[in-house]
Amino acid sequence: MQTIIEPFRIKSVEPIRRTTTAEREECLRQASYNLFLIDAKNILIDLLTDSGTSAMSTEQWAAMMRGDESYAGSESFHRMRAVVQELTGFRHVIPTHQGRAAERILFAVMCRPGHLVPNNTHFDTTRANIEATGAEAVDLPLPEAADTQLRMDFKGNMDVAALEKLLEEAPPGRVPLVMVTVTNNSGGGQPVSLDNIAAVRRVCVRHGVPLYLDACRFAENAYFIREREPGCHALSPKQIAQRMFAYADGCTFSAKKDAFANIGGLLCTNDDRLAAQETNLLILTEGFPTYGGLAGRDLDAIAVGLEEVLELDYLRYRIASVGYLGRRLADGGVPIVEPPGGHAIYIDAARMLPQIPRSEFPAQALAVELYRHAGIRAVEIGSLMFGEHARHELLRLAIPRRVYTQSHIDYVVESLLEINQRKHELRGLEIVEQPPFLRHFSARLRPL
Ligand SMILES: *Cc1c(COP(=O)(O)O)cnc(C)c1O
Repeated sequence: MQTIIEPFRIKSVEPIRRTTTAEREECLRQASYNLFLIDAKNILIDLLTDSGTSAMSTEQWAAMMRGDESYAGSESFHRMRAVVQELTGFRHVIPTHQGRAAERILFAVMCRPGHLVPNNTHFDTTRANIEATGAEAVDLPLPEAADTQLRMDFKGNMDVAALEKLLEEAPPGRVPLVMVTVTNNSGGGQPVSLDNIAAVRRVCVRHGVPLYLDACRFAENAYFIREREPGCHALSPKQIAQRMFAYADGCTFSAKKDAFANIGGLLCTNDDRLAAQETNLLILTEGFPTYGGLAGRDLDAIAVGLEEVLELDYLRYRIASVGYLGRRLADGGVPIVEPPGGHAIYIDAARMLPQIPRSEFPAQALAVELYRHAGIRAVEIGSLMFGEHARHELLRLAIPRRVYTQSHIDYVVESLLEINQRKHELRGLEIVEQPPFLRHFSARLRPL
């Protein structure tokens, strides 16, 4: 059989609400054309993020009922730690309330002003937490990754030659750790090969610098390796994930991505001395080391989710459904970032709407029209989000895990192809009010 189906059936449903175009136009006016300010009840299909928006399974809900809410030494923690240790091999497993809390603790312990932290591409919270310590976050993506139309198997790889050069030229002790983000989220959800992680590892060992994975989408990355990397097809996603982790000295992780949990994060390391310092910081702001800011039931949901996410049937469906959206849009003439990544499709709005200059936010104009036309929410990743640092003007359609069916995706495709037919009618926006940082969350705009 060729047809790839959703490898689950639906037991509990959550109604979504249709609105009229007139209602949506009123919502847009009231939200000042910022989709973060629209209430979820007025959204039909929400592709704002894949973070914390997964549907949990019957086994996860059952596990939550077993949650042990003891302050210290809870059984839920022991169950979660056993799963994580088996998967990653890391000795110390520190729970946190989200990925960014793991980042804050890791960098607070490892980074000082003047330090450099290389990564294939830093996620925005990773960069912000590094910079909050006075250190500098350095992106070392492949040069080819700048071309949105180029198709490569592992477009998320780190530029190993650039890393080697940075480590050779940096004064001793200036680079406290190297990070690799799998998949490369800010780089379009593109995968990183095992070969690349191994090469980064060799460079790190030669310079005596530890390697950490930002492992948020480790399972999607493992599936791409299985499909694309020579010699890997006979391995299970779990075996591949174990190999990825074996190259690293530790990891940060957001359980809101590849653990199907609605909240949670992890910080793992093999370094006893660092773990002791990290645990002290954890107690200060997150909680006791056996719960780290989470309820016991959350730890159980993560433990089960980490096993389910590595099921081959699930990953095949996941990557196929994101790829399906990408192919149908591209075949219909909508320019997407190629090739489709693991968790989202990115539309190149600068290419689609050449009449709208970057200063008038073409990707936000497309986001507003997609909501006005069809009630779909996506997110601008361009000049509104990053100001003059923006490299591209993208609209990201992030796909929540196990939430939408193929007909939902077909509806998204039809809406975008209709908009593409009359794309020359779209106009830009201007900012009328903005906060001093992270302006995209609360800026107010007006159509031109
Ligand atoms: C989401 C994400 C984070 C941060 O995790 P939160 O749980 O949102 O705090 C860090 N890195 C990457 C690559 C992410 O996608």
